[in-house]
Amino acid sequence: MSVFSEVELGEPVEMFYLKKAYLEDKFENKVFLSVGAYRTDEGKPWVLPVVKSLEKILSHDESLNKEYLPTLGLETFSTSATTMLLGLDSPAIIQKRYCGIQSISGTGSLRIGAEFLVKMGKKIFYVSNPTWENHKRLFLQAGFEECREYRYWNPTTRRIDFEGLIDDLDKAPQDAVVILHVCAHNPTGVDPTPEQWSKIANIIHKRRLFPFFDCAFQGFVTGNVISDAYSIRLFVSLGFELFCAQSFSKNFGLYNERIGNLTIVVNNPDLIPAIKSQITYIVNGMYLNPPGLCARIVTYVLNNSTMYNQWQDNVRTMSSRLLLMRKQLKEILDHLETPGNWDHLVEHSGFFSYTGLTPVQVEYMVNKYHIYMLASGRMSIAGLNSSNVYYVAKAIYDTVS
Ligand code: PMP
Repeated sequence: MSVFSEVELGEPVEMFYLKKAYLEDKFENKVFLSVGAYRTDEGKPWVLPVVKSLEKILSHDESLNKEYLPTLGLETFSTSATTMLLGLDSPAIIQKRYCGIQSISGTGSLRIGAEFLVKMGKKIFYVSNPTWENHKRLFLQAGFEECREYRYWNPTTRRIDFEGLIDDLDKAPQDAVVILHVCAHNPTGVDPTPEQWSKIANIIHKRRLFPFFDCAFQGFVTGNVISDAYSIRLFVSLGFELFCAQSFSKNFGLYNERIGNLTIVVNNPDLIPAIKSQITYIVNGMYLNPPGLCARIVTYVLNNSTMYNQWQDNVRTMSSRLLLMRKQLKEILDHLETPGNWDHLVEHSGFFSYTGLTPVQVEYMVNKYHIYMLASGRMSIAGLNSSNVYYVAKAIYDTVS
């Protein structure tokens, strides 16, 4: 009898299950449209040139070593990351009512933020329906008692269900935490308009909810990190206290290095030392301190104008390739006279689109065409390239005809 005899085998996580099936598939023209990781037009992962050159520079810097970083990470990193998010002219930055905490990418930043909010007595959190599949697990594991959803996706229009969203948030109990995607909503690809963001801010203010932003794709909507931060900058300009978990996995291509930042904005600078001290305890008890090299890379880029410009170019390369793939897929679908309207593919933005394909249709695409997508119909646009976009469009045509 083992201590672990009673452990139940968990349900496989859809993404990992699909990845395994894809890797084992011997079909030559198989296509992987599941994971939210950038691929080049050759279908390869991309180490950003700016990251490559910095790795070389930093490896020759004799002043650097592998000593532990402080528990809350490199301060120059977190200050630069928060500035990239909020802008140098942000009232929160000017009035010093913020802090940044370097953490284990976006996921770790969400997790320490969620644990801290639980310590503050928060019990209920809201996610969009649908949302990134990890939000629910992450917040519940951090100690939240209840997950509720606000409507977000309208399957008929394939756009945002804004009335539903407002209606649900208007019924939320005071103090509930609301997770909002800064831009490039995962999984739908649909973001609120500036007018809709103002209305969301009003309702969050009116119901006294706490906004927790998730910023995993800054730069992938417009190719410009400043415009993509519109929503959170609006909230800060309106005087909200808020959290934002930033990920540098996508916009720096640093997926497995695990670099992120938790930005905290409060209404009084005197509160910052106590907040940081409490988060120090959380981090100490969880992973002691964060990694170094990736923090140095991002800090260097954000503080050196030449490197910054190169990085902006790299971000534009990635975001414009995604835009091009959206456009080409829609054009081919239209050209084939595929039943239905495919405008949403180009109106959505970022890495993903909710295509509108049903679970049965997705299963057909996997079985007949070896095209791997999530059952929800979410397509990762990064998996498209000039060699497979026609094949994917033809498969969709056949599937929906
Ligand atoms: N938030 C969202 C919406 C995401 O899609 C992801 C990853 N795909 C993350 C957070 C976390 O990513 P990471 O931990 O790699 O930064």
